[in-house]
Amino acid sequence: MNTNFPVLTLKPHKERALLRRHPWVYATGVASVKGKPKSGDTIRIQDNKGNFLAWGAYSPEATLRARCWSFNENDVIDENWFKKKVFEAVRARDNLRNRTDAIRLIFGEADYLPGLIVDQYANQLVTQFQSAGVEKWRKEIAKALIEATGSNQIYDRSDAATRVREGLPERKEVLEGVEPPEEIEIVEDGIKYGVDVRSGHKTGFYVDQRDNRALARELAANFKKVHGRGMRALNCFCYTGGFSLALAKGGAEEVISIDSSADALFLAQENAKRNNLDGHNMKWIEANVFEKLREFRDAGEKFDLVILDPPKFASSHHHVDKAARAYKDINLNGLRLLNEGGRLLTFSCSGAIDVDLFQKIVAGAVFDAKTDAWMVSRLGAGTDHPFLMTHPEGEYLKGLHLISRGSGSAG
Ligand code: SAH
Repeated sequence: MNTNFPVLTLKPHKERALLRRHPWVYATGVASVKGKPKSGDTIRIQDNKGNFLAWGAYSPEATLRARCWSFNENDVIDENWFKKKVFEAVRARDNLRNRTDAIRLIFGEADYLPGLIVDQYANQLVTQFQSAGVEKWRKEIAKALIEATGSNQIYDRSDAATRVREGLPERKEVLEGVEPPEEIEIVEDGIKYGVDVRSGHKTGFYVDQRDNRALARELAANFKKVHGRGMRALNCFCYTGGFSLALAKGGAEEVISIDSSADALFLAQENAKRNNLDGHNMKWIEANVFEKLREFRDAGEKFDLVILDPPKFASSHHHVDKAARAYKDINLNGLRLLNEGGRLLTFSCSGAIDVDLFQKIVAGAVFDAKTDAWMVSRLGAGTDHPFLMTHPEGEYLKGLHLISRGSGSAG
């Protein structure tokens, strides 16, 4: 046993989560910390009888006081360990490379690198170091990324609010190579998108919606086959037009897209032009979705497909009630705009709202809309955003695919 490491001892009974290989240690479960670890230092985590539980990274200011690297006492957390984890993560996504060059290479806990996000856009890598542990190993991780991908361009977008909770300053800078261009072109399933890695949302693009964009495209294509005309679709919270372009490419007759950000809509239209999809059938509306849906309802507008992919309404458990009301509102008004047989693809990326609660909220909206609806499938993030079965918190993006059955049994 290596005895040179600082030791964190848990209070009695607080070892249960770790025994189930759940990788988080809450400050409230800590009995003592010996050896004066600094932010990000590797610590030995043990139960109150001194039995080894895990190797972790210490975060003196965070509610998540430690996050586990490994539950194997024989593991050595050194440069080689990070190299191995980075290589494994990158290789595990190789199967996506024939579809796209926008890939999440590392997704935190799922890749045994808690708090680390790495996305690849063509030759550009973008990192987010959101925990004290990965922050400490930043140089080693960058080196491993270069070796594993062959890219020598890394931009660090460690500007997420989560860093503050870890007592880390926000940071945006070139980690390797040169300043990225204003726009990087990526291709996903044959559709081109421009990505602004320096100031776009997340690391620049909603990589996680890849499979759902493909679904929207397939639905548009099938609709055309069955009905002999293209669908009329409404994409709410369109950002840079991800779903809108997929729908147009699939053969939708008209795609109306709404976002409150003029900058996002500008980029969305640039993306449409990039793919020669900027015809008269693409309409871009700068508006508040909550208000616009009511306007459409009052005007008697109807659609064959409505997409609702809002920003995170609940940033923590404290905001769940308010967020639930907001989700209910847009889903209720979105459902009212559907033709009978029309489809709703509705999403929530609030980690604090699990899939069961989200489904209940949407079921409430269906009831209040006095419509019936089939639930066809649950949707989630792409395969490059997996979560460990031992860490269900890694599941954040949830979606439901519904088909309106019209007034059905409603009185
Ligand atoms: N569906 C997008 C991602 C959505 S991100 C994609 O697949 O790429 C959320 C978007 O909602 C942002 O572009 C933000 O500008 C927009 N937004 C936030 N609140 C809004 C509101 N009340 N009305 C309209 N748009 C809003």
